[in-house]
This record gives sequence, structure tokens and C-alpha cells, in this order.
Amino acid sequence: MRPFVYQRVESPQAALAAFITAPASADRQYLAGGTTLVDLMKLDVMRPQALIDINALDRTGLGRIDAGPGGLRLGAMARMAEAAEHPAVARDYPVIAQSLKLAASQQLRNMASLGGNVLQRTRCPYFRDVSYASCNKRNPGSGCTALESLHRDHAVLGVSEACIATYPGDFGQALIALDAIVELAGPQGGRRISFAEMHLMPGDTPQFETTLMPGELITAFIVPAAPWTRRSLYLKVRQRESYEFALASAAVALDLDDERIVRGARVALGGVATVPWRAQDAEGTLYGKTLNEQVASAAADAAFAFARPRADNAYKVALGKRTLVRALLQAAAMER
Ligand SMILES: Cc1cc2nc3c(=O)[nH]c(=O)nc-3n(C[C@H](O)[C@H](O)[C@H](O)COP(=O)(O)OP(=O)(O)OC[C@H]3O[C@@H](n4cnc5c(N)ncnc54)[C@H](O)[C@@H]3O)c2cc1C
Ligand code: SF4
Repeated sequence: MRPFVYQRVESPQAALAAFITAPASADRQYLAGGTTLVDLMKLDVMRPQALIDINALDRTGLGRIDAGPGGLRLGAMARMAEAAEHPAVARDYPVIAQSLKLAASQQLRNMASLGGNVLQRTRCPYFRDVSYASCNKRNPGSGCTALESLHRDHAVLGVSEACIATYPGDFGQALIALDAIVELAGPQGGRRISFAEMHLMPGDTPQFETTLMPGELITAFIVPAAPWTRRSLYLKVRQRESYEFALASAAVALDLDDERIVRGARVALGGVATVPWRAQDAEGTLYGKTLNEQVASAAADAAFAFARPRADNAYKVALGKRTLVRALLQAAAMER
């Protein structure tokens, strides 16, 4: 590991002040659970010169989870395990609870924060191993090893000629499906953005992953109440059940009328795309229909209509479609 300056702060204001006073030329990072950041520092992939430890902020509003008639507010420093096990989250927003519970291991979920989760970096092996010289995300302009090498786990949606790395998280799919808002505090003041605006597709500049401005701190995620949040679920397909990243996943939320006809649908995909992926084309095929296998298959076809598979990861199109069909049929069968 390389040397760095460490500072622990007790309030969001102190976190922003610490960011501003560290030399602007230094790579400054907030340290939450450290389960992504410290990992990548040990691998020499991330080389921050200043670490601002925000763990004490979980004793402020940033650690709180509030559920009310208007929706859900998840503080960014709430731990994954706390949110997964929160009774109101599990009852009224099961897709959120399940996306967190099916992620990582219990020990990691106890440490890792919600804010850090959505900012985790890709698991592309060529990004995480500095002995590979070509990685446009780690070393802009150097090329992409994955395009010429094994790329079984890589993305088929949202890819570019510069990068095909998969967004690895699960929680992000639940947030994007439920139209979540991200609350930010920054050196220039506070603002709110939709979660859908936060992650950037790789395009020609895969080194830029989010629209956050330097020093911006995620303070909370706000999930509006909606008729589809209770009939929602997260289905994750992975190599092993104990803990593993998704090969394919689907976050779905449905509102059905008394005749079980779809009057509201939210669909997002994981494991197959470069960013948390909202599948609005799939949603559009569901409205006004009774959800059966044929209707679910048509939605899955729409979701992958623009997929760009390569030699090793073409299986992800069929797997992603099957995952979405199963998720839709299971959600339709839920008793709500
Ligand atoms: C073995 C293993 C398996 C895993 N499996 C899964 C999985 O199946 N699914 C899944 O979703 N995840 C998985 N993860 C990833 C894990 O969930 C993330 O590492 C974790 O959620 C990151 O949270 P953290 O608090 O530790 O973030 P940190 O590592 O502390 O921070 C990550 C990044 O976010 C920034 N940051 C943190 N908090 C804020 C904030 N509030 N505002 C602004 N910036 C912030 C930091 O500066 C840093 O750049 C796995 C990790 C490991 C090691
Ligand atoms: S897929 Fe992206 S992260 Fe992986 S080697 Fe290529 S540029 Fe790097």
C-alpha cells in the first residue's frame, strides 16, 4: 500500500471541509466500510493520497432508515445488513431488502454502507490486476484487455468499444427500478438527482463512472411510495449460492388490478450491463396484459433487443431473458 493521510470526521460538514482543505491535486476519497476502497488500495488499483473516514456519520441522520406513507429514506451510512433486515423495507419494498440480502456475505454486509455500495467498482479482472497494461478504465487510452481475452462475465448491454465491464452491484437495480432519488451534499451546496442519472455508460471515457462532482457526499436515497413497491422482488443468478456477484439478475415491481392485469411495471437488470439497467422497453410491453409466460417472454425479448454479445458472453442474453421471465412470473404470483 502507498502512504496516505487519514482523517476521521464527525459530521457531513466536517467531511466536506476535510475534502476542501486537502490539496486539490491529491486523490481524496471518503472511506465508509472500506470493502471496495481498501481492497483496491491493496491491489494498487486505487491510490488515494487522502482518506476521509465518514464512519462516525452513521450516528447522524446518515445512518437512519425512515419509512412513512410518502416513501422510504435510507441514510447513505446505513449498513447493508441493517437495511436488508429492516421490517418496513422487507415488507413494503422487498426488492430492496432482497437485493441487499443476496449481495456479498453477512460479514461484508455488516461493514458495507449503502452509499459505498452504489459506488463500488467493476470486478473486471483486468481492471483489478495492474499487471495488465491495457485497461481504459484504469489507464485511459491504454486499450481494453477484455475485448481480446476471456470476457465471460462481461456486459452485453450499454457496452462500447472502449469498455465492456459489468456494473457489479445489486442494490442499484432495486433503486433504479423504484425511481429512487439520491440526496447529495457538496462543496457547492446540496442537490438531488434521480438515481438513473448517477451512473455513466462507458462510451469513449470509461474512467468516468458517475455524475457526482468532486467532494460530493451521498447522504441518502429516497424511494417514493408507489403501488408496485409491495409486489416486488429481486432474482439473482450466480455461480454459487453462498456469496457471489450476479451473472444475471432482475429487479421487478408490479401493480396488478383486480383482474390481475398489469397497470404498473418497473423492471431493471443486473449482471448483464455496464450500469444499473432500467429496462423501460420491457415495461412498455407489459401494460394492459395479463402476465403469463408468453407476455413475460415478449418483455424479455424487448429488454435484450439491443444487446451486443461477444464470443464468450453470448450466453448472457439467453440467461438474462430466462431470469427476467422467472422474476416477472414470480412477482405476478405473489400474494399482496
Ligand atoms: C468478496 C466480496 C463479495 C461481494 N459481493 C457483492 C455482491 O454480490 N453484490 C454487491 O452488490 N456487492 C458485493 N460486494 C461489494 C460490496 O457490497 C461493496 O464493497 C460495499 O457495498 C461497498 O461499501 P463500503 O461502505 O465498504 O464502501 P467503501 O469501500 O468505503 O467505498 C467505496 C467507494 O465509495 C465512496 N463512498 C463511500 N461512501 C460514500 C458516500 N456516502 N458519499 C460519497 N462517496 C462515498 C468511497 O470514497 C469509495 O470510492 C462484494 C465485495 C466483496 C469484497
Ligand atoms: S472491460 Fe473495461 S475495465 Fe475491463 S479491461 Fe476493458 S476497459 Fe478495463
